[in-house]
Formats: sequence, structure tokens, C-alpha cells
Amino acid sequence: MVDYYTGWLSWEAFIEWFWTLPLAGQIFFVIGVITVLVLIGIGVYYLIKGVVYLVYYILKGVYYLLRAILFGIYKFFEELYYLISSKEKPVKQKNVEVAPTVKPAIQYAPVQRSMDIKVRYCSECGNPLTDSMSQQLSEKGVAFCSHCGKGFKAGFLEMES
Ligand SMILES: [Zn+2]
Repeated sequence: MVDYYTGWLSWEAFIEWFWTLPLAGQIFFVIGVITVLVLIGIGVYYLIKGVVYLVYYILKGVYYLLRAILFGIYKFFEELYYLISSKEKPVKQKNVEVAPTVKPAIQYAPVQRSMDIKVRYCSECGNPLTDSMSQQLSEKGVAFCSHCGKGFKAGFLEMES
């Protein structure tokens, strides 16, 4: 039974027609309908995704365009300001300032290290003075070599003074 108003089968007529089909036909029909629905779903998904991406990139493009325009306007007025006020435009020094503060730190490190590591030797037997001897020497002013027993005075051996 065809609905003459829409040109489509009415729902009841469709159900009636469906039950007249053999089982294999019903199964194939259902599979076909599901396949079509899935394909429509995938199509709609990619369509929405495409639209979302399109809107995203348009907004991003507009954002960068506006930013560039605003930055251009800012630069223009900045130049205008220095032109009218006849003030010296400050030179960007950030990069210049950073370099010297970093370099000395690197240069000082090895120098300080070599002074800490410097080993003092006994003038009598030539053996290196131990840490406890150096400590004793700086604290009490007097120390004795642990190898030969020679006494030292702080002022005599200290390199710095
Ligand atoms: Zn010694």
C-alpha cells in the first residue's frame, strides 16, 4: 500500500511487507539498514569533525591576524612616541646583560677549585701534609709532620700570607 500523499510506503504497509519476506531477506534487509546507518553516522562524525577543525583554524587565524595588527599598531605608536618626544629609544639589553653574568661564574669555578685542591708538602721529607695537619696548622698555628715529625708554623708554610 503506497501512501499517495508522501509517495512512501506507510509504516503498517512496510511492516506487512517486511514479514512477507523470507528470513534471509529480513536479515539482509536489517544488515543493510544497519550498514547504511553506520555509514551515515561515520559521515556525520567526519562532517562535524571537519566543521570543528575549520572553525578552530579560522578562529586561530583570526587570533594571529588580530595579534599581528595590534602589535603593528603598538609598534607604530611606539615609534611615533619616540619621534615626537625626541627621546632615545632604549636598546634591548636583555641578551647583552645575560652573557657576562653567566661567563664569570664559569671562569671562577676552576680557579677556586685549584686553590682548594692545592696540596702542601713537608719541606723535610717531601710527603704531602694530611688534611688534619693543615686543619691543625690553621687552627693552632703549629703542626707536626706525621711522617718525619718536623714542626711547622702557620706563617712559614701558608702560601697566602
Ligand atoms: Zn715530613
